[in-house]
Order: sequence, then C-alpha cells, then structure tokens
Amino acid sequence: MDPDAREARLNALVALAHELGREDRKLAILGEGNVSTRVPGGMLVKASGRNLATLSPRGIVECRTAELCAMLGRSGLSDAAIDEQLLASRVRNDDPKPSVEALFHAYLLGLPGVEWVGHAHPVAVNRVMCSPRAHEFARRRIFPDEVVCCGEESVLVPYTDPGLKLAEAIRLRVEEHVERRGGPPRVILLASHGVITVGSTSDAVLAAMLMVTKSADIWVGAAALGGPNFLSDADVRRIAGRSDEEYRRRALNL
Ligand SMILES: [Zn+2]
Repeated sequence: MDPDAREARLNALVALAHELGREDRKLAILGEGNVSTRVPGGMLVKASGRNLATLSPRGIVECRTAELCAMLGRSGLSDAAIDEQLLASRVRNDDPKPSVEALFHAYLLGLPGVEWVGHAHPVAVNRVMCSPRAHEFARRRIFPDEVVCCGEESVLVPYTDPGLKLAEAIRLRVEEHVERRGGPPRVILLASHGVITVGSTSDAVLAAMLMVTKSADIWVGAAALGGPNFLSDADVRRIAGRSDEEYRRRALNL
C-alpha cells in the first residue's frame, strides 16, 4: 500500500472512531469499543484503552493479522501469553499495545468483503442484549431499513469471556452463519456485551451500527406495547432482494 493510501485509510479509521464515539449517540463511553481496517498483510486497529471520541492516529496500531489468527483455537493460552502475542503482532515496536479485542478484528477482516469493522456497546442494543429476548432480536426483523443496513439476520454470540475465548466464539457463530446464509453477516450481537458491525466501507459499518441501535430502540418501545410485530421471513427476503433497495445501498456506499 503506498503511503498516501495508507494515510487516507488511517484518517478514515479515525473519522469512523469519532462517529462511533459521539456522546449524543450513546454507543460507547471511556475506553469502550474499537475500530479496525484492512491493510496489506495486516490491519490498523485501535490501541488498548483509547477513547473512540478522542482517538488520534497515535492511538492506532498496525498488526500482522496472520499472527493473531494463529492464536485462535489455542484457548489454553494464559493471559500473559496472549498479551505477549498481541505485542509481538505489532509491525512497529514503538506502537502502543493493541486491544485484546484485536483478535476478533483480525479474524473478521479475513472474511470476504469485510474491509472495516466497528465495535461498540450501545445503550439501546444492550437493553436487549442484557435481556432474555436477545435471540429474537438477532433472528427477526421489524422494518425495511433494518434489512437494508443490517442484513436479513444477525449473528448472536452467547456471553463469553472477552479476549481469545470471545474471538473463538465469534468465529464459530460466524462460520455457522456463512454456511447457512452463504456469506458473512453485517451485524454480530454479543450477549451481555455489545455489537460488532462489518462492511466493505466505513460508511457501511457506521450505517449498520446506527441502524441496529435505532432498531433496538424501537424494539424495546414496541415490546412495552405488547410487541414487536415482526416482518415475515418472505417480506424480509423480498426487501433484501429488491433492486431499488440494492440501488439505495450502492448510493449510500453500503
Ligand atoms: Zn466490547
């Protein structure tokens, strides 16, 4: 990647972090959440403990993804060994330590069509993720734009210890989804934790994050009134396949 293209990616990643970190959106506070994007041989990812809202290029670290992906399947690794590997995956030794969630970013950025990843702990989504109805929220859809931005179905990962075990659990559930649906999901919901959105552009990652958050907000309100009323599977399939919706998706850079 030439230096100008890398610089443009880095700046776009910082911009995505600032969008996800906006206080008024209630998606993440303090060190919550992270963002990443693919670069040749690896990825750019937020360093451990940095705030999305105030992230600067110095708070981003470049890692070799192959080294991180090689840790998946080795859940016996101690916390100290994981930390050591995280540090060893850095391209530059003076970069800060990558977040432990860099492990799932490395895996997801290896999926076809996934160039950008965003992760947050939105208040609205976590109202549902911390409830007994998380599965229904992942499986069903309640309005058309939710299908356009978030796909026909989201992946739900049961609560798992953050770090290596979570990355492995995400891989397992995403593989099941790919097998069933023929491609990666747009939205991965983490029970009692938060949400991950993936896409081929940073706009798609932001759109899915804002839409899953709006959907959760509506869902909880509709649940209070005895609902929600779900779209039928046939309606969901129809919206996902409509050419005008495909046009809209392209116009929005999703
Ligand atoms: Zn998290």
